[in-house]
This record gives sequence, structure tokens and C-alpha cells, in this order.
Amino acid sequence: RAKENGKNNYHLYSASLNIQSFKLYTMERDLRKSIQNGELRVYFQPKVETSTGKIVGAEALIRWEHPVWGLISPNEFIPLAEENGFILEIGDWVLKQVCTYLNEWEQSGLPIVPISINKSAKRFLISDWTSVIYNTLKETNTDPSLIEFEITETTLLQHNDTVNNAIDFLKEIGIKIALDDFGTGYSSFTYLKQYPINTIKIDQSFIRNISNHSDEMIIKSTIYLAKGLGMKVVAEGVETKEQLTFLKQLNCDEIQGYLFSKPVPEKEFQHLLQMAIIKPTGDNTYVKPTV
Ligand code: C2E
Ligand code: MG
Ligand code: MG
Ligand code: MG
Repeated sequence: RAKENGKNNYHLYSASLNIQSFKLYTMERDLRKSIQNGELRVYFQPKVETSTGKIVGAEALIRWEHPVWGLISPNEFIPLAEENGFILEIGDWVLKQVCTYLNEWEQSGLPIVPISINKSAKRFLISDWTSVIYNTLKETNTDPSLIEFEITETTLLQHNDTVNNAIDFLKEIGIKIALDDFGTGYSSFTYLKQYPINTIKIDQSFIRNISNHSDEMIIKSTIYLAKGLGMKVVAEGVETKEQLTFLKQLNCDEIQGYLFSKPVPEKEFQHLLQMAIIKPTGDNTYVKPTV
């Protein structure tokens, strides 16, 4: 009898292990069909001009609405997509989607701001990529200066010819480049000197704890450095009024964070954009226009 129980326990144990790998297997299988099934969404998080409170841009952030599991965070499926190469298709889809929205806004006479798109380091290694970008912009009649790519230090670390050519191409056609999560990777001042970087984004891990002396000094120096090099500087993950006041004093150009708004679907983002000035309450959805 004991032997029988032991056997059953063993089965339970191995079953729970299998659930893990089954979920991963299912996720990978479903991810490949997510585009054709229309399950991917682009959300927008406003970037606010620190001195005026105006929305001057937004970051496009992907979401996956799985039919069974619900909304899945990119932190869960982007690493998987990077591993199996599907990130290339996802990235191209996001660009197409953003350009299509920009085009729709323009056609409908709605306000338009530049949109930043996250780009996987992997994408920079495929040389056909530049023609994909070129064709998407052309098809959707998109002004390249409305697009910014957010890349990380990992992308630049690869420094091979394909990456360098892609970056040259972006500069040539007028797509801007932001260095995302600045200070958390293999930061090197050489990158700032070598590459045509327009924007530095201070990582939210430094913003979280502004009363910590080290974090405070890192933020101050990054803003000083960016300004000295003629780059725009954006703080991400701003959640409190104290953080806002601190960043205002330092003349940080733009702010992004839950204090103003979470990433929201396109319709809601247009609603925010039409308010002109956004209030630091974190719940702007139903605030009446102030201007
Ligand atoms: P990221 O590019 O650094 O984006 C910032 C993340 O911080 C987003 O998480 C955003 O929702 C979150 N965030 C913004 N404000 C606040 C705040 O005030 N507090 C806190 N705690 N978090 C805040 P999200 O949307 O889950 O995206 C996570 C990461 O997934 C992104 O980090 C980016 O690396 C990646 N990702 C998202 N969309 C794409 C995409 O289309 N392509 C690629 N390759 N990566 C993407
Ligand atoms: Mg980003
Ligand atoms: Mg970031
Ligand atoms: Mg990040």
C-alpha cells in the first residue's frame, strides 16, 4: 500500500514538473500563431514634457491577449520570442502597427506625437531589416522623424558591421535612436561618442530610490552628461510627486511613468493626447480637457 502511495506521489510530482514545460511549450506554439490570430496589441505610454506637462511623445509597448491565459506581459514572452527567433516577426508587426496608427490619426485630423518602439538586439543582426523598415514607412506614408527606436547597450555591444550599417541607415532616413535602460547594461561612454544617439532613458531602478545618495548622483550625472552631449534625457518609472519635483529641479526633459499614466490602448491614448496637458494623478482617463 505504501508502495502504491509512493508511486502516486511520484506521478503527482512529475506531473507538476511537466505542467511547467507544457506551459512553455504551449506558449511557444501559441505565440507563433498570435499575429495571424490577431492577439497582439500595441499599448501607448505617454512621455510628458517636464516643464509644461504636455504629452510630447509615447512609447509603444506590446501586449499579448491570450485566449485562455488573458493579458500576458512582454517580460514573459519577449525572452521566449528572442530565443526562438519569432521576435523578428513581432518587431516588424509592431512597427507596421505603429505606422498604421500614425497614418489613421493623421487622416482623421487627430493630434500626433513621435512614437518610440523597443527594438531587440537580435533585429539589428539581420541585414534585410533595413528594407523592411523602408517598405513599411513607404506603404504607410510615415514621416520617419516620428519614429524613434529604443535600443539597449546590448545592441551596441555586438558592434559588428551589420549593426553599424543598420544604425547608419536609421540615421540617414531620419529615425531617431534612444538608449533604453541606461546605466544597467555594459555602459560605455564610447557608445555615446560613436553612435548617433538622440535620447538617453534613465532606467527606472535609479528613479525608484531618489533619496539614496548613489541613485541621486547617478541621475544627476546622467542628466548632466546627456545635456552636455546635446541629447534629450527621459526618466522612466516615475511614480511619485517627489520624483517629479526632483527631476524638474534637474531639468530632466521628459518623464514617463504611472504618475501620469500606465500604458493604455490606442483609443485611450488618443483621449489623453486630446487633453493637451496631463495631470500627475495616475488616473487621467476621465479628467476633462483643461485647455
Ligand atoms: P522597457 O522598454 O524598459 O519599458 C518600460 C517598462 O516599464 C514597461 O513595462 C512599462 O509598462 C513599465 N513602466 C512604465 N512606467 C512605470 C512605472 O511608473 N512604474 C513601474 N513599476 N513600471 C513602469 P512593460 O510594458 O511590461 O514592458 C517590459 C519590457 O518588455 C520593456 O521594457 C521592453 O524591454 C520589452 N518590450 C515591450 N514591448 C516591446 C516590443 O514591442 N518589442 C520588444 N523587442 N520589446 C518590448
Ligand atoms: Mg523601452
Ligand atoms: Mg526602459
Ligand atoms: Mg526595461
